[in-house]
Amino acid sequence: MADVRLHDVKKQFGALSIIKGVDLEVRDGEFCVFVGPSGCGKSTLLRMIAGLEDITSGALSIGGRDMTTVGPSERGVAMVFQSYALYPHMTVAENIGFGLRMTGHSKQTIAERTAVAARMLQLEPMLQRKPGQLSGGQRQRVAIGRAIVRNPDVFLFDEPLSNLDAALRVQMRGELSKLHHDLKATMIYVMHDQVEAMTMADKIVVLSAGKIEQVGTPLELYHRPNNLFVAGFIGSPK
Ligand code: ADP
Ligand code: MG
Repeated sequence: MADVRLHDVKKQFGALSIIKGVDLEVRDGEFCVFVGPSGCGKSTLLRMIAGLEDITSGALSIGGRDMTTVGPSERGVAMVFQSYALYPHMTVAENIGFGLRMTGHSKQTIAERTAVAARMLQLEPMLQRKPGQLSGGQRQRVAIGRAIVRNPDVFLFDEPLSNLDAALRVQMRGELSKLHHDLKATMIYVMHDQVEAMTMADKIVVLSAGKIEQVGTPLELYHRPNNLFVAGFIGSPK
């Protein structure tokens, strides 16, 4: 089980109050999307779940385990960022396996998990190429492969498709949905494209200025928005 629970989570940067008391439960296996305008705190919230950012106050648990003293690498989470910083001098296979190599996994384990991830992401023909020889979509898939090989309970995505062109985004959306179906992992996904959110999410969390405006299924938010902010945000084109 890897549900993610936040209770009255707050974040201050100096005197600035950035996350102002968030209560949320993301259930095991759920595809949960955070949406909201730029600067509302989506990345900060995700980084706190990943353990990359301290929580100023409140409580966070993953799979029922309190995360207060648990470091990023012990949380069973893997994060995929918008800027997929691959190592240009390494092959695709080496990039995918790098994190496992650093954490002392055997060559055999690395090879096996890399093969599974490459099959899932249709990267098998490209394993010996360097990132410079890949398209944007292929590079993003390598970044996702690095997360998959860690066998996380929870995947955290921070706008992973926003550097891709529209056609590729549509294709990658389909691939991520399939990945979610295949892995049955909990996924929390930050995006500011409402169309993407409406088509991919089990649950959408609408954020504004560090607070949750509404949580619901795409249809609930579309048909019964709590307020004009949610209605405007969900209903308006990007
Ligand atoms: P989003 O991902 O929704 O665009 P962020 O979580 O990146 O928003 O940022 C939320 C707010 O917190 C912004 O106003 C940003 O400037 C501020 N912020 C983020 N990180 C820091 C930091 N390390 N120090 C000070 N302010 C920060
Ligand atoms: Mg962000």
